[in-house]
Amino acid sequence: MAASLLDVLNLEVHYGGIAAVKGVSLAIEPGEMVCLIGANGAGKTTTLKALARMLPAQGEIHYRGERIDALPSHALIGRGLALVPEGRGVFSRLTIAENLAMGAYHRRDGEIAADLDRIHGLLPRLRERTSQLAGTLSGGEQQMLAIGRALMGRPKLLLLDEPSMGLAPLMVQKVFEVIRAVAAQGVTILLVEQNARLALEVCQRGYVMESGRITLADSSKALAADTRVRAAYLGA
Ligand code: ATP
Repeated sequence: MAASLLDVLNLEVHYGGIAAVKGVSLAIEPGEMVCLIGANGAGKTTTLKALARMLPAQGEIHYRGERIDALPSHALIGRGLALVPEGRGVFSRLTIAENLAMGAYHRRDGEIAADLDRIHGLLPRLRERTSQLAGTLSGGEQQMLAIGRALMGRPKLLLLDEPSMGLAPLMVQKVFEVIRAVAAQGVTILLVEQNARLALEVCQRGYVMESGRITLADSSKALAADTRVRAAYLGA
């Protein structure tokens, strides 16, 4: 197998009798920031969930040289593969501090406090409010918290599902500044976004998904110049 960080071959996901992901193959190299764009219902979220082993799927998923498609989802956290789900999935009745601690529950090393400090440096709004209940945070703050919680697991590959969803433009900018900073620290990122313009701005490379299949794969620059992409996703 090639030495990509993630290699996906012929991924298939069905909901009952309906195919939502139909033979998706993709590869991500260490340190890359790659996006998966496409319309509503194209199968982007389903693909991410399948990669995180949260849905049954067919096909092969190779991660850091290991075949992970038969592993349970919790086994991936310790291997450094983390999903920040659509809608964030923070524990609304726990505090910020407790949510962050949940992200490190599997760790037994002595560097958790140092990581927490680093994450607070990246997300200062969280440091100011450690005892606030997550459910009382704004949408943008919850998105930051969800990213912070994933970072507490020391991910090598972060799967981000629609981090811009439901956020005001200014907050979207802030969340994406954080995502760029995370990438700059060496975390590889696979970003699912409906905001194709933004996704192609921040990522080096992208895949376009339509009706469960990858229909285009290229550099962000080439995709942003592609007439089909411009017409379908960039409103041009
Ligand atoms: P969105 O941006 O709207 O979330 P998406 O590209 O992420 O879109 P998916 O959410 O992966 O798309 O959905 C892909 C297809 O699978 C859609 O047709 C959707 O209706 C269907 N689907 C998603 N979740 C389920 C489910 N739990 N049960 C049945 N069908 C589902």
